[in-house]
Amino acid sequence: MKKLLPTSTAGSLPKPSWLAQPETLWSPWKLEGEELLEGKQDALRLSLFEQQQAGIDIVSDGEQTRQHFVTTFIENLSGVDFAKREVVRIRNRYDASVPTVVGAVERRKPVFIEDAKYLRQQTTQPIKWALPGPMTMIDTLYDDHYKSREKLAWEFAGILNQEARELEAAGVDIIQFDEPAFNVFFDEVNDWGVAALERAIEGLRCETAVHICYGYGIKANTDWKQTLGSEWRQYEEAFPKLQKSKIDIVSLECHNSRVPLELIELIRGKKVMVGAIDVATNAVETPEEVAQTLRKALQFVATDKLYPCTNCGMAPLSRRVARGKLNALSAGADIVRRELQG
Ligand SMILES: [Zn+2]
Repeated sequence: MKKLLPTSTAGSLPKPSWLAQPETLWSPWKLEGEELLEGKQDALRLSLFEQQQAGIDIVSDGEQTRQHFVTTFIENLSGVDFAKREVVRIRNRYDASVPTVVGAVERRKPVFIEDAKYLRQQTTQPIKWALPGPMTMIDTLYDDHYKSREKLAWEFAGILNQEARELEAAGVDIIQFDEPAFNVFFDEVNDWGVAALERAIEGLRCETAVHICYGYGIKANTDWKQTLGSEWRQYEEAFPKLQKSKIDIVSLECHNSRVPLELIELIRGKKVMVGAIDVATNAVETPEEVAQTLRKALQFVATDKLYPCTNCGMAPLSRRVARGKLNALSAGADIVRRELQG
């Protein structure tokens, strides 16, 4: 019988301090050349080991080989000039200096395939691999070539599909697309966002997931959350389309958020990765707090479709806090598992 309530993380975990400055986004590498390649692989194994020590069921690379969940993927494509920068507003929330699309975007070489093969060699557990979603990618760039968000998103969807097919062939069990932009651009989500995502998963036989969250615990995000009022109903906009889509799993922020959990009813039938760990605080949840979030979600998700998870990536946290949160997630899932199996 398949294990009930299999645990996983949204993706990123803190990097060791010898590889990159801890508790910092876009932290520069501390090694270079051959040493950097080796260091990233060592960090990947360490990150896997920590997930295993905590009893996490579906494991990941902890995103140890990338500097940022969107930028690192784009850096490996042609058509984007990282020296030519423009200031744009990201997710309608904060200004950032971003690279410019100067020509046709293309994936001339695999991006994460060697890393995924390496992770596959280290474990027989199911593995999940995260890629940025098409809409979140275009929102992190200045487009001086296609001059259409939709057109650029479709180009990225095709590129992501190439990468995803090779990840599947490398033995990845779940491919996840990170689409925090789905919580912001509702008209685009419904016009072409979900369709572009389905283009990215075309022809895949492995499971697919979309992660939609309220972001890392950085100031721009916590300030934005203050403006969202007492109920966060953003998920309501994308869910009906996602419910009808071919995506297998939807990964959500739940714990400590103001998301009314009954919104999950709108994706009935999908597997749901329920965020039961807040990544915007250093306070480590108790197992009972995790269990409470899972019990609430079980009102709207079938038992065999609930996957306990973190709200978002834990890259900006300290390793000690992240480890504590992984343990809490496992222990909390275990409490509910035992109750269900009574
Ligand atoms: Zn997230």
